[in-house]
Amino acid sequence: MTQTANAQWQRPGPRSAELFERAARVTPGGVNSPVRAFSGVGGTPAFIDHASGAYIYDVDGNEYVDYVGSFGPMILGHAHPAVVEAVQQQASKGLSFGAPTGLETELAELVCSMVDSIESVRMVNSGTEAAMTALRLARGHTGRKKVIKFAGNYHGHVDALLVNAGSGALTLGIPGSPGVPEAVVQDTLVATYNDLDSVAEAFKAHGDDVACVMVEPVAGNMNCVPPEDGFLQGLRDLCDEYGALLVFDEVMTGFRVHPGCAQAHFGVTPDVTALGKIVGGGMPVGAVGGPSKVMETLAPTGPVYQAGTLSGHPLGMAAGIATLSRLKDGSVHEAIAPKLDSLLQGLQQCADKHGVPFLTQRVGAMFGMFFTDASRVSRFDDVAACDTDKFAVFFHTMLDHGVYLAPSAFEAGFISQAHDDTAIQRTLEAADAAFAAVAQA
Ligand SMILES: *Cc1c(COP(=O)(O)O)cnc(C)c1O
Repeated sequence: MTQTANAQWQRPGPRSAELFERAARVTPGGVNSPVRAFSGVGGTPAFIDHASGAYIYDVDGNEYVDYVGSFGPMILGHAHPAVVEAVQQQASKGLSFGAPTGLETELAELVCSMVDSIESVRMVNSGTEAAMTALRLARGHTGRKKVIKFAGNYHGHVDALLVNAGSGALTLGIPGSPGVPEAVVQDTLVATYNDLDSVAEAFKAHGDDVACVMVEPVAGNMNCVPPEDGFLQGLRDLCDEYGALLVFDEVMTGFRVHPGCAQAHFGVTPDVTALGKIVGGGMPVGAVGGPSKVMETLAPTGPVYQAGTLSGHPLGMAAGIATLSRLKDGSVHEAIAPKLDSLLQGLQQCADKHGVPFLTQRVGAMFGMFFTDASRVSRFDDVAACDTDKFAVFFHTMLDHGVYLAPSAFEAGFISQAHDDTAIQRTLEAADAAFAAVAQA
């Protein structure tokens, strides 16, 4: 769909187009993360001026109900006053010290108190770093090399995990990546999400050398695909049988599907958890956590080296503390659930009315929309079979009507506590036009 004529759509406007042109001269593709480039839907991206609550505003003055939420972190809504104030207050005390602060401990204590499997946390600067560190930790702790991952799962742009990855890699149709030498991925085994047999086979062939299984407990980088009953527990059992570690990449699901993360929602305990997105409340923060006996394999207590000049950054810690402390008692998630119910029911009714084959899936405060006549989407192949052309028409019509969705059929949707009835009503009115456009396309 990269050839979609921009002129077909009203939005974004001329200022965004001008900024995009300028950006493309000094930045590859005009963006600092590929999925922002609208490659999956055609056209050019909206450049954002500011955001507040459920809404973002582009540089042409267009207002959108936002279901991207910075790709996950903004569960409290944009520019939440308490989060902004925490960051402002901290900024006035100095930006970074290269020495420990009490803030790092405060956020670590919050994470440990909310996530049952975590006794000890190492802060890093992104989800990619968290996944990279989790993998090195698992390898160092077990003395084994191989990792089992899943096609369509995304763990950031870590070399060894950039094999059959989801998110932008999927949108752009990049199965691996040039620049990743074969030697770096020769210990990466790729299994099928929601297919335990494929994991058992990998273990049967390489069991003694598997350091870990790394999985998104809800696959959120190939749209939104929940684990089938027994899948996560089956992974736990296989890891125990073969002495491998189970690593949950909860960069997206962490604190979004449940205050105790996906592991609490599904009742399956991983050995190591990678966190990102919400843990930093909108600032660049990632974290790796697990039992102390595993975490102490990291330097300086153990031999596995990991470090970061800006890790545990005071502004990120301040935003993370302000965010997690508001999620801890579960009331935010409770408040969001009925809103997401009415949004998804409304969308389905609207699709049915216009005769468009459509399906939604959700876990906690994340959801997926599929242009398919399947009654359930649970495997990567089901996701790949969905109609991306229909999605592109839907996406652009929604944008024209003031609703901002992720610009790819392979990204999950995110709602916040700030999405009130008015925002949802506006979304459904836009959807009426968008499903009509899809039906005519
Ligand atoms: C977003 C994401 C990452 C990467 O995090 P970055 O902060 O973009 O590096 C890793 N794993 C999962 C599951 C993600 O959703």
